[in-house]
Amino acid sequence: MSAGPGATSGIAIVGAGIIGLYTAYHLARAGAGPITVLDRGWLSNGASGRNGGGVRQQWETPATVRLARESVAAYRRFGREFGFNIWFRQGGYLFLAESEPELRHLSGVTSTIRSEGLDGKLLRPEEVPHYAPGLDPGGLVGGSYLHSDGTLYPFPALWALNEAVVREGVNLRMGTEVTGIRTEDARVTGLATSAGPLVASVVVNAAGGWAGDLSALAGLPTPNHATRHEILATEPLKPFLDPMVVRLRDGLYFSQTMRGEIVGGLTMAHPTGTRAGMPSSSAFLRAMSRALVGLLPSIRHLGVLRAWSGFYDDTPDGLPVIGEDPRLRGFFHANGFGGHGFMLAPAASRRVAQAILGERSDLDPGQFSVGRFLTPPADRPVEGLQLG
Ligand SMILES: Cc1cc2nc3c(=O)[nH]c(=O)nc-3n(C[C@H](O)[C@H](O)[C@H](O)COP(=O)(O)OP(=O)(O)OC[C@H]3O[C@@H](n4cnc5c(N)ncnc54)[C@H](O)[C@@H]3O)c2cc1C
Repeated sequence: MSAGPGATSGIAIVGAGIIGLYTAYHLARAGAGPITVLDRGWLSNGASGRNGGGVRQQWETPATVRLARESVAAYRRFGREFGFNIWFRQGGYLFLAESEPELRHLSGVTSTIRSEGLDGKLLRPEEVPHYAPGLDPGGLVGGSYLHSDGTLYPFPALWALNEAVVREGVNLRMGTEVTGIRTEDARVTGLATSAGPLVASVVVNAAGGWAGDLSALAGLPTPNHATRHEILATEPLKPFLDPMVVRLRDGLYFSQTMRGEIVGGLTMAHPTGTRAGMPSSSAFLRAMSRALVGLLPSIRHLGVLRAWSGFYDDTPDGLPVIGEDPRLRGFFHANGFGGHGFMLAPAASRRVAQAILGERSDLDPGQFSVGRFLTPPADRPVEGLQLG
């Protein structure tokens, strides 16, 4: 089956990033279909091929901790399930606080994850270098650490899912742009694409940084906004750093890959929106180099090998948007993952598939449905640990 005149697909997923592919996988395994995944680019051209590979369970909101914990379990069995090595290494995540309010923030996160059964620790400043040798503890008031957090290589995860969904009979259409959402009587009937129309009774918006634009094509305003984030990789060094290190003050994060490179980024104030594309800037190179060398002085002679950027798909409360849009039957959201879609993908996409299949879900719709932005309840959780 192909997108084109007269083509039909029960379920059409827009976006072949980690969220769209994982959702297709869960649906295909559940026997749903026919399923088409469409992407205007190539595999990994969105944020899924441009990220830092960090996978953590230290979160402020218990529901996010649960999704992250389930995702860690999925990444642990990923090799067996898909036959691809994603180099998932549980070297921990180390958060750094430089002020008392930041430390209180970490203390709250540590209490939350401990009450969820995870073995997180709050650290005194002098304990920090034990977890990250060579790190200058001057200026630190403490940190938090969870040993079962970790890092992986995003590319093999995408390759594995790509192969798995094709094996399961999913029609994968790369290089096909979705240009319109067709509707009738407030329900989805299909898509307009660069390869022609596609009939579908379910459309899934897994368009990452472009999710707000795709919802707008359906006449559904959402508060998703794309923010560009830059990242770099250095020359390799003999492995010395186990955890992903994240500093609250400026969003600096870095880890060492198994090849020895330091990979990391820092939050810069770029204008929001996708129009300016995904360039890299010399301002980022300067700010990132200064921040990294300030914290790890011994790497000051290391060269930068490459730098790139991609879009976060942010929401006002830092939580993803999952489930059917109450304004348009058959239009499902699987977006709003900010800088954390890879680490939540296995569990979050399972909830997307459950919503499409009409199965019961443990997700609170008040917390994850797009409806929370349309008629916001007075008191709803906000995820404040939107870093690294
Ligand atoms: C620099 C950086 C560092 C990050 N670090 C981490 C990290 O350490 N850990 C982590 O968990 N997450 C991280 N993230 C976030 C993570 O990469 C994303 O949350 C995740 O990859 C989102 O996956 P996705 O499938 O929703 O979107 P994407 O991977 O962006 O895929 C969306 C796809 O939709 C396609 N598309 C859009 N519009 C259309 C259209 N109209 N028609 C057809 N196709 C369309 C695009 O071509 C794209 O391929 C980082 C992101 C960036 C940019």
